[in-house]
Amino acid sequence: MNIDEFQVRGKEMIEYICEYLRTLEGKRVTANVDPGYLRPLLPKEAPAKGEPWDAIMRDVDSKIMPGITHWQHPRFHAYFPAGNSFPSILGDMLSDAIGCIGFSWAASPACTELETIVLDWYAKAIDLPPEFLAEHKSSKGGGVIQGSASECILVTMLAARTQAIRTLKEQDPNTEDSAFLPRLVAYCSTEAHSCAEKAAMICLVKLRVLEPDEKGSLRGKRLESAIREDVANGLVPFFVSTTLGTTGSCAFDNLVEIGPVCKLYPNIWLHVDGAYAGNAFICPEMRPLMTGIEHADSFNTNPNKWLLVNFDCSCLWVRDRVKLTSALVVDPLYLQHARSGESIDYRHWGIPLSRRFRALKLWFVMRSYGITGLQKYIRNHIRLARRFETLMRRDKRFEITNDVRVGLVCFRLKENDEINQELLANINASGRLHMIPARVMGKYILRFCVIKENATDDDIDYAVDVIEEHATEVMLAHYE
Ligand code: PLP
Repeated sequence: MNIDEFQVRGKEMIEYICEYLRTLEGKRVTANVDPGYLRPLLPKEAPAKGEPWDAIMRDVDSKIMPGITHWQHPRFHAYFPAGNSFPSILGDMLSDAIGCIGFSWAASPACTELETIVLDWYAKAIDLPPEFLAEHKSSKGGGVIQGSASECILVTMLAARTQAIRTLKEQDPNTEDSAFLPRLVAYCSTEAHSCAEKAAMICLVKLRVLEPDEKGSLRGKRLESAIREDVANGLVPFFVSTTLGTTGSCAFDNLVEIGPVCKLYPNIWLHVDGAYAGNAFICPEMRPLMTGIEHADSFNTNPNKWLLVNFDCSCLWVRDRVKLTSALVVDPLYLQHARSGESIDYRHWGIPLSRRFRALKLWFVMRSYGITGLQKYIRNHIRLARRFETLMRRDKRFEITNDVRVGLVCFRLKENDEINQELLANINASGRLHMIPARVMGKYILRFCVIKENATDDDIDYAVDVIEEHATEVMLAHYE
């Protein structure tokens, strides 16, 4: 394809995308296919000769689209939002066209510098403590875009592990680093995302998974008693992963209590994962939910969940960037450059060397919506979640099982788990609405998340109607 053809096909692709998004509502939200559906539809080998563009696009329509779960569909209420918006798509298109690989400042100065600046913008917009900003010459902190919240938790755990091993080595310099690993212990709550468990697996450290209170919030006392017990058994607590907005029920750990407990142990790194709900702190009225953030060593939130930025864009801020990079620096000659000491080289802030120009789409979104536009978007979702809650509470067959503070509502029929499983399976099979379940504090619940950018009262009312209709069917089938 040459540039002239690209110009034509590019415009056609925009047309295709607009048509896709305009007609989305008429489609099933979930794919109605079985595993392995695609293999018989495609040739066994890649074509030897290039094929006409129209043939490829015909196959997109007839073979790929039937297997898509439409995450941008107005009836998609599963997981958390897969952030998206037109400014973000355009920003990513430009990033793809520039095609730079920003592993160091020299590899593309604007790619690095825009990332640092936009992360400072966002840190200020959500009112993070100033130590997390890179803009002050005296500041040790700064922000970086990672591919996912899982990576944010992994790299901060790696950094904390490096710090802990260094301290242990001071007392015991002849011991191999790996010999300290069996003593290291990290903490999170049962409600933390499974990526904390994965990070501990990769780091080869113990993870103590603690029971939160009845609201799903990890409390200081529970953490403190676990730490004391572990210290008494010769273990070294080194990392606490907390969550503001848990995946299952959007519960908030109690940082006001947890922070001072961590401070009692100089080796403990306190991480705060706000992958979804952290974006809500762009609204001042939501910030009481982040009280205690001043105790954190690091914080992450994903604009690619709830700030209209498409995947991938997970923002991580650290209080001390040297502590982060000291776990990750390798510096071969071919990656060094003349300005190394004067600039940030983001390859030292994460696992991959190669990095896309992801700051561009976040910058496009922040500039085209402005802080007030983004606040309006978040507030609309919170308002609609409350509308959903109110309507569901009116139907006495249901109970609401979480404190609805942001855009997620958890509910269940006041019946056994099997009936609730059947309800969800039937709703999803209908293709009219898509939700997922979770097990929170031992209970099987259905999660309803407000997702669509410009969701309306009608979208919520439709969802409630569908749920009530299916509930009636399931109850009739069981009690007839
Ligand atoms: N943390 C929380 C609270 C989440 O809800 C999720 C995913 O939904 C994750 C971490 C993992 O996110 P990612 O897919 O960006 O790794």
